[in-house]
Amino acid sequence: MKRFVFLISISLFSFGFFVATPLVDLDGVTEDVDYLVDLYKSLHQSPELSLQEKETSKKLANELRKVGFEVTENFGGYGIVGILKNGEGPTILYRTDMDALPMYEKTELPYASKVEVPYNGGIVGTMHSCGHDIHMTNWVGTARYMSQNKDQWKGTLMFIGQPAEEIGEGAKLMLEAGLYEKFGVPDYGLGLHSSPTLPAGTVGLSDGYTMATAEFADIKVFGIGAHGASPHMSIDPVVVASMIVMDLQTIASRSVKPVDDVVVTVGAIKGGTKHNIIPDEVTLQLTIRTFTEEVRQLVHKRIEEISRGVAIAAGLPEDKMPEVIFNTAFTPSNFNNTELIQSMRKSAKKVIDDDKVMEAEPQMVAEDFSLYGLTEHKVPTVLFWLGTVPDHRIQSGDLPGLHSPFYYPEPEKSLETGVAVVSQTMLDLFKQ
Ligand SMILES: [Zn+2]
Ligand SMILES: [Zn+2]
Repeated sequence: MKRFVFLISISLFSFGFFVATPLVDLDGVTEDVDYLVDLYKSLHQSPELSLQEKETSKKLANELRKVGFEVTENFGGYGIVGILKNGEGPTILYRTDMDALPMYEKTELPYASKVEVPYNGGIVGTMHSCGHDIHMTNWVGTARYMSQNKDQWKGTLMFIGQPAEEIGEGAKLMLEAGLYEKFGVPDYGLGLHSSPTLPAGTVGLSDGYTMATAEFADIKVFGIGAHGASPHMSIDPVVVASMIVMDLQTIASRSVKPVDDVVVTVGAIKGGTKHNIIPDEVTLQLTIRTFTEEVRQLVHKRIEEISRGVAIAAGLPEDKMPEVIFNTAFTPSNFNNTELIQSMRKSAKKVIDDDKVMEAEPQMVAEDFSLYGLTEHKVPTVLFWLGTVPDHRIQSGDLPGLHSPFYYPEPEKSLETGVAVVSQTMLDLFKQ
């Protein structure tokens, strides 16, 4: 009996010895928050648009160099790659995006952006209304924490600062510049996005699909023009286009399985010049959101069939059938790797309360982060939501969305939570 107990205690000891992973020192994270909030405010006050992230990327490169990373700049536009090697072990990619949006900030915060830039022949404000400034600061905070605690992990950190997320080009630029060929293929890829609905202090994790495939399509509808007073002399493309818009609504309601997700939105109708002229062409501009390739292909097929069918019904001849043009550059859906998201959920619960680790619903917005997991190497990736909303806004229910001029995160708590959760996830992954 004694011997049996002895054996159990030995095996428990050795089991504990092998799986014990260091816990993130939360006091250490908190101590660094003032530094990070200052950095956050300076990034927030100097937003740069997609493909123009020159000063932002320089700032980030300096931050990484300060804590011992080897940094390559101007990699795929203004992309940066920071490498910190620390012995034998896996490589973890952690990505931040860096770009802001062309819009005036209306938050009235003391550190609100006042930057104006030339845009489309005019002048426009710039604002980090998608929270990429919080992403960058979290990323720097995690780099600082991991580099200050190098005795607790072995492996390689690959921190990438990605340009041009808002226009869906940055990830592609960095991958095509040879990210994996030059710096190695990571074993895991992590990214986060600010949530405009989850409270600061929480994270939102979801299994499987988390963001949608996003693509654009144009439908050119042709007709036969005439005087507005003589519709019988025309085949009116305004009416044909209108019928197409209505029939497109049946794709979600009648063609796609009720349990599958899809959005078909006509965001713009362009045609005609004057009240009393029936034009001979109208263009519809669509955005299409799906998760799976099967649904995506079905939606394409139905858009073609509906456009052609309505045109035939209107009496248009074969040479005036609508032209459907699908934009080939689309952003694929984000799929969270099952094991990685499970491991992250456990890690998150080590550093924040269980009820602050929320289950997030999939959303039909898109993110080009998905591309890092879709190369031939099939790197397992996770993109999670970081709660950013200040308590007073949660209480009042006033929740401006991302890209709203009124959106702002609560930096202290968002940064503390983000740095702790990502650092713990990394420590646990390095121990596996
Ligand atoms: Zn955005
Ligand atoms: Zn964004």
